[in-house]
Amino acid sequence: MDGAEVHIDVGAELWLFLALRDQGRRLRTVHDGTSSLGHVIESLGVPLPEVGRLIVNGRVAVPAYRPRDGDMVQVQAIRRPQEVPDGPPSFVLDVHLGTLARWLRLVGVDTAYRNDLDDDALVVQANLEHRVLLTKDRGLLRRRRLWLGAYVRGALPDDQFRDVLDRFAPPLAPWSRCTACNGPLSPVGKDEAGPFLQPGTRRSYDTFARCLTCGHLYWRGAHHRRLEAIVHTAIRTVSAGGRHVEGATCPGGRAGGR
Ligand SMILES: [Zn+2]
Repeated sequence: MDGAEVHIDVGAELWLFLALRDQGRRLRTVHDGTSSLGHVIESLGVPLPEVGRLIVNGRVAVPAYRPRDGDMVQVQAIRRPQEVPDGPPSFVLDVHLGTLARWLRLVGVDTAYRNDLDDDALVVQANLEHRVLLTKDRGLLRRRRLWLGAYVRGALPDDQFRDVLDRFAPPLAPWSRCTACNGPLSPVGKDEAGPFLQPGTRRSYDTFARCLTCGHLYWRGAHHRRLEAIVHTAIRTVSAGGRHVEGATCPGGRAGGR
């Protein structure tokens, strides 16, 4: 099988992972006869968690398939919305995605994030808690022991946020989680919140919520318009294509949000 030639068409959604010279054309790789198709695809730069169906000579194949001389391979991107085993999906984010983590929590998506976890610890947490590992680190997505990961597209939080919501269409529950620690929020009365507030805040606001995990107190404040815009972006993105949005009520009537 030395020198076997394999022809590969990579779906356009996956071109960002290819070298510039390889984008938009049929690739020919000389195959050693022993590597799996999954290995061949990874060697082109495409992380396997980004790959959906593999078609070899018109038939569905698995990543463990060993290519033969003259094979025609189609590599398709993972379908959206992506199903997650034991869904709805929850996430753990790498250290570079702090803003995205806060925004996902703002819309009620279960999101683990710490700014001091190394790659090994991220993989352990993802596997242990069955969280999808979100990252822009392609090397991390090649970890053999990682149960499920996803590459986050976009350099800016707005683009990253839309990408993750479009890909996984998670149920939304805006204003229900602490953006600082991911804990659940519970409404509290003004009497209870009052002793912890500056007099100006106490006079200006009536609706408060407290994080049941870290105790952080939330109210509608100076940033509220910006936060509402983020919530509406999320509802629009997940609703696109007629997807059902759980708990995507207008935040106007809910306690919480600062
Ligand atoms: Zn908290």
